Amino acid sequence: MNLLIKNIILPDGDAYKYSDIYVSDDTIVGIGSSPENFVADEIIEGEGRIAIPAFVNAHTHAYMSVLRNAADDLPFMTWLFEGVMPREEKLNNEQAYWGSLLACAEMIKRGCGTFCDMHLFPGASAKAAVKSGMRAVVSRGLTGSDGGQRRLDEQYAEIEEWKDHKNISFMLAPHAIYTCDKEFLLKVSSEAKRLGLGLNIHLSESKAEFGDCLRDNGCTPTEYCESLGLFENKTLAAHCVQLTENDISILAKRGVSVASNPKSNLKLGNGIAPIYQLDQAGVNVCIGTDSAASNNSLNMFSELNYMTLLHKGTNYDSTAIPAKKALDFATVNGAKALGYDNLGKLEVGYIADIALLDTNVPQMVPLRNYYAAVCYCCDGSETDTLILDGKVVMKNKKLLTIDEEELYYNINKIVKETD
Ligand SMILES: [Zn+2]
Repeated sequence: MNLLIKNIILPDGDAYKYSDIYVSDDTIVGIGSSPENFVADEIIEGEGRIAIPAFVNAHTHAYMSVLRNAADDLPFMTWLFEGVMPREEKLNNEQAYWGSLLACAEMIKRGCGTFCDMHLFPGASAKAAVKSGMRAVVSRGLTGSDGGQRRLDEQYAEIEEWKDHKNISFMLAPHAIYTCDKEFLLKVSSEAKRLGLGLNIHLSESKAEFGDCLRDNGCTPTEYCESLGLFENKTLAAHCVQLTENDISILAKRGVSVASNPKSNLKLGNGIAPIYQLDQAGVNVCIGTDSAASNNSLNMFSELNYMTLLHKGTNYDSTAIPAKKALDFATVNGAKALGYDNLGKLEVGYIADIALLDTNVPQMVPLRNYYAAVCYCCDGSETDTLILDGKVVMKNKKLLTIDEEELYYNINKIVKETD
């Protein structure tokens, strides 16, 4: 199947140019000039639209979209242990699937093609990703030691069931140092090594986590993970808000990727991660939305905007985290963190995950600068077409893989049953 996207807007330095993108099956095979013998089966007229690599949401909990607006303006630990967890306990796998599909619908409508999911319901997000056409790296959130082995067994079963799906891959996810004891963290770490999987962990998210770790272990959460050898695994650490200079050098030295979730950190009153310093130290920084229970949306454009503005403001430096760099965080860096070296760029040889954004809206006129337009002007509503793996999953803002009416009916039914 050959797809030609004609007269689409691509970057030209900081400015822009019109070009063509040639896609064969799931891969970009030409930009600007046609590969030999290319005959298009489908043509998308790009006129007036920007192409960007589809976003990689490096940290979320998709099923929690069903918990949107259920617990807000609460202290972090109250939000987690009283607002979120009791509601989660009432959900079953089928309900978690619909929650995950709701997350996929929202992410697709906001130009996102890949997500890294930490869940409690094996198979729910994998099923939703496959149904929607998205790519997902899924992990069962592991807490322990009490019940830890049962959760690990659920993870093994999920891997067994979904391992043959091209766009589903796995990490092991010890939830956090405050929900896993030392023995269990060591166990998960050695299992990750045995299975050749990366680790996905919440790290140094709040002052409480940081202070408790200092009190209990005499070191920071990052130093604690380092002392246990967790970072010998390929690791994706979410949040990393509370970091010392030594923590930053450990993360850089160990090649840990950091998934920053600026809006969730702000909304839960956890602060602002030292992203500028992490990036300067050479850490692979990527961006996540976290869940709709703490954000309350899964809009990577919004995260992109916060990412650039927050770190300019907090560093008193308007040149910090420029737009192009932030877009890299949200695309190619996320892909790298999830183990993809051919995803997140509009280049020949890369996977054809492409979002098209309408520029015929007031906030995009005049266009002038490609990166500034995407990072500072877009609110996400401009996304009108999404191509994933070379297949169109949304066209003219209409989802082609998800029945929205059925989705909202099911979500509203779940809310009635579980609230
Ligand atoms: Zn999280």
